Amino acid sequence: MTHPPSDGNRRKIQRIGVIGGGQLAWMMGPAALRLGLELVVQTPSAEDPAVAIAQSAVLAPVADVAGTEALANQCDVITFENEFIDCEGLQALAQRGVMFRPKLEVLALVLDKRHQRELFDRLGLPNPRYAVLEGPESEAELYQRAEGVGLPLVMKTRRLGYDGYGTVVVKTAEDLVAAWDGFRRAPVLLEEFVPFTKELAIMVARSASGKVTLYPTVETVQVNHTCRRVIAPVAVSGAVADTMANLGRTLVNALDLVGIIGIECFLTEDGRVLVNEIAPRTHNSGHYSLDACATSQFEQQLRAVSDQPLGSSRLTCAQAVMVNLLGLEESEASHQQRIARLKQRPHATLYWYNKGLRPGRKLGHITQRLEAGDDPIAAAEELEALWYGPA
Ligand code: ADP
Repeated sequence: MTHPPSDGNRRKIQRIGVIGGGQLAWMMGPAALRLGLELVVQTPSAEDPAVAIAQSAVLAPVADVAGTEALANQCDVITFENEFIDCEGLQALAQRGVMFRPKLEVLALVLDKRHQRELFDRLGLPNPRYAVLEGPESEAELYQRAEGVGLPLVMKTRRLGYDGYGTVVVKTAEDLVAAWDGFRRAPVLLEEFVPFTKELAIMVARSASGKVTLYPTVETVQVNHTCRRVIAPVAVSGAVADTMANLGRTLVNALDLVGIIGIECFLTEDGRVLVNEIAPRTHNSGHYSLDACATSQFEQQLRAVSDQPLGSSRLTCAQAVMVNLLGLEESEASHQQRIARLKQRPHATLYWYNKGLRPGRKLGHITQRLEAGDDPIAAAEELEALWYGPA
């Protein structure tokens, strides 16, 4: 167990261990420099983006407990850019006094979508109707649980799903078994298909002393279950914005979170907000904050876990759009041509993660700052045309 800080008598937190070395850790680099912090990452490959910006790296898979022990030996605190860790294996380190922020209990809770849903239910936070399967159930039980949820439904792998990998829409009862077979009958969540009008997300940071900072609620747009664009802030009623803020506060306080969390929700036609999922780290829906907020989500995470005061999360422009740049079925030269095109875009900043090209992989993103009255959808479509359109 980690304990709340007894302010004043703990040594200064200077070296931050980060489990994961992808783009989320990479984007912590400039903030770490500004805050006078050093980053050490645990990641499998020396080619992973964050190795280039870290003081040093432990080259080990994120779930490798011996790797995390080596990380802990070099750092004052350990935080996360990737939650797919071995929580049980790490308990011994926590018991030895290694400080994990957020604590391992939070990570354990989000690793299984079932536990996330049970948390939302316990806290009285509306979420889509669901049923769970553990794996050994019969087909008759599968049909029975699906009946309770209704069709169409969304079948989701409970562990290790991301970017829509592990999410399948099932339209008819005949497709249920094939879908479950597609998951090799692993533990899954069956969830009502929500005909949402918008998908919303919010980043919320919390310090060890319990101070909470909320970012604006944004709209996320997914293509094939993967985030394509983010519009900040979302145009919703004050009541919906208040609901997002309230559920953000409720969640971070209930989790006793130290760090930052991303919360994804569905907005229904009748104005209800249903929580879809949470991620106890920086999040794709918060990338816009690098260019459009007084304190980016990456700096905020580092501030929270190193006991530096949280910064302001206010927007520094009227609005902003962020577009994800996913790998295309095209040559490297074609990708380069598109990068060059995006670099010409005024009021926009391109982030290229330097990862190997693979169709569908998140390779970078671009954020454009907008003025009041600008049309964010038109701006996003123009950015998307520059990347996804004809060469
Ligand atoms: P992941 O963990 O892979 O990000 P999500 O649960 O966030 O998976 O699902 C990815 C996307 O699939 C969502 O952003 C949404 O567009 C769509 N989706 C997921 N669940 C539902 C649902 N119950 N109803 C309608 N669409 C859904």
